[in-house]
Amino acid sequence: MIPYGDYHMHTPLCGHAIGQPDEYAQQAIKLGFKEIGFSDHAPMVHKSMPGVTMSFDELPQYNAMIEDVRKRYASQISIKIALEADFLPGYEGKTKAMINSYPYDYIIGSVHFIDDWAFDDPACREYWKKYDVNDVYRKYYGLLQQSAKTGFYQIIGHCDLPKKFGARPTVDLTDEVKATAQVFKDTGVTIEINTAGLRKPIAEMYPSRESLKIYCEAGVPLTFGSDAHDPLHVGNDFDKAVALAKSVGYNEYLIFKDRQIEKRIKL
Ligand code: ZN
Ligand code: FE
Ligand code: FE
Ligand code: ZN
Repeated sequence: MIPYGDYHMHTPLCGHAIGQPDEYAQQAIKLGFKEIGFSDHAPMVHKSMPGVTMSFDELPQYNAMIEDVRKRYASQISIKIALEADFLPGYEGKTKAMINSYPYDYIIGSVHFIDDWAFDDPACREYWKKYDVNDVYRKYYGLLQQSAKTGFYQIIGHCDLPKKFGARPTVDLTDEVKATAQVFKDTGVTIEINTAGLRKPIAEMYPSRESLKIYCEAGVPLTFGSDAHDPLHVGNDFDKAVALAKSVGYNEYLIFKDRQIEKRIKL
């Protein structure tokens, strides 16, 4: 199967990714991709976080940089311009203004914070000891549902991220996942299979097979992303991701343009 789109890729502007956009594009072309989407970490709207996201001042530079690479590689590959924007409850106005400041092709909405704790940041890993693991997951699914309801996001990123370092719920949270899947369906958001989890301690894709099956059964559409922070991550493990998608019943995935569905690609 020739891969079509890798929709989750970063740039050095976030402060923790390496390689220029050219190198990501060249790697994608080498792998046979027809399309990629850059979705670097959007500025945090509640405080500046150097090393985690680009700053507000860098946003125009990011847009211009991706426009430039899009033009230069136009004959070889389609390049979409996107953002991975955090969902921060209470800051919806600022978030909306930011994502509407430029005609992005899609916005990935991600939850990386619970009570101002960056639970997936290796530097904040000690806080896992202070939280009840099931409470973390319950709060996380609540935030995912809230994020989908804003209408800001076309794609919800890595939708079981709390498992990154290996912490699994100790009680059955199937009902929470089902409720989340129903909210995703009702609000019209898409999920991603994010292969970066395979590079993390948990060593499995986001979301898990069990969760992905629930999303598929609820009729939530799909995209694919490597969450590349290095050109060598582009398209990583997409063979496994496609096999996983098919095994739970997905038969297509989506391509976005101007925050609308542009194409449906058969799996
Ligand atoms: Zn990152
Ligand atoms: Fe993320
Ligand atoms: Fe990312
Ligand atoms: Zn991400």
